[in-house]
Amino acid sequence: MYGTRGSISAPLRNSQYREKIMNILQLSKGKILSSDSEINDFFNSLPDHLKFTAGGDTTCISVTSSTGKVFMVDCGTGGRVMGDELMATDLGKGKGELELFFTHTHWDHIQGLPFFKPVYIPGNKVNFYSPYPDLEDRLIKQQVKEFFPMPFHGTASTKSFTTIKRGEPIQFGDMTIDFYPLKHPGGSYAYKFTENGKSFIFATDAEFTGDDMDLIKSMSGFFNGVDIMVLDAQYTLDESFAKFDWGHTSYTMAVNCAVNWNIKNLVLTHHEPAYNDEKVFDIYEEAKMHNEYVPNSTLNILLAREGMELEI
Ligand SMILES: [Zn+2]
Ligand SMILES: [Zn+2]
Repeated sequence: MYGTRGSISAPLRNSQYREKIMNILQLSKGKILSSDSEINDFFNSLPDHLKFTAGGDTTCISVTSSTGKVFMVDCGTGGRVMGDELMATDLGKGKGELELFFTHTHWDHIQGLPFFKPVYIPGNKVNFYSPYPDLEDRLIKQQVKEFFPMPFHGTASTKSFTTIKRGEPIQFGDMTIDFYPLKHPGGSYAYKFTENGKSFIFATDAEFTGDDMDLIKSMSGFFNGVDIMVLDAQYTLDESFAKFDWGHTSYTMAVNCAVNWNIKNLVLTHHEPAYNDEKVFDIYEEAKMHNEYVPNSTLNILLAREGMELEI
């Protein structure tokens, strides 16, 4: 995962960095930290919000098939980091091909594209997929001269655009990719990757409330039994009431959806930019607590963290 923050990037600020360091130093009081292994053990004993940051970059993930083929979903500001990593592959030599899927085109899902180096390299082929017939126009608009110095088609890679259709999953070898519409202002789509009986769903930017139980049940055909699902869980329950109709879900409803759909592992993402790491990691603990009270739940919950890798 290259980008886990929702709505707008939220880098760790100096005051937050200082607070983390001061908290760690407080916890080290009286400890003997004279060897590397003592330092390591101490570090590993720290609470997650001091050991990690949830991450400041906006949505971008990659899915790698069993054959090593890389699929990218969304190009928020995390896309810059992914692009820099891909420069060490054939994409850095102008001999690469990349499949890039978009859930939707809100800023936090496309703004990394102008900084995604592989699109600038002649010889590369970048294939864009989405259910939006006008995706190309939307990406061109993002880079008109009033907003960015380099037009989208001024970049040297070869580009292709495919509009994918409901009920017509696309196939890359053994990997099948399908999608499903989500409730979100302007629309958004979940993607499901299935290969060798294993499945992964990426469903960010979706709003589910307690009033949506019929809708949630009607979606179980697509979502049922998936091994890993990354789902929008931007808000606390209170905030989801205050921000009704803003297009995002509370962590409690994210857990309820996942249990309803018999998901094995739920990954909470699209973290609220106003929340610091302590609050985001608190939400994670509260989501796990909520799950304990959901009848018959066997759900495992994880928190999306920048740089996190999961294997099915
Ligand atoms: Zn978003
Ligand atoms: Zn959105």
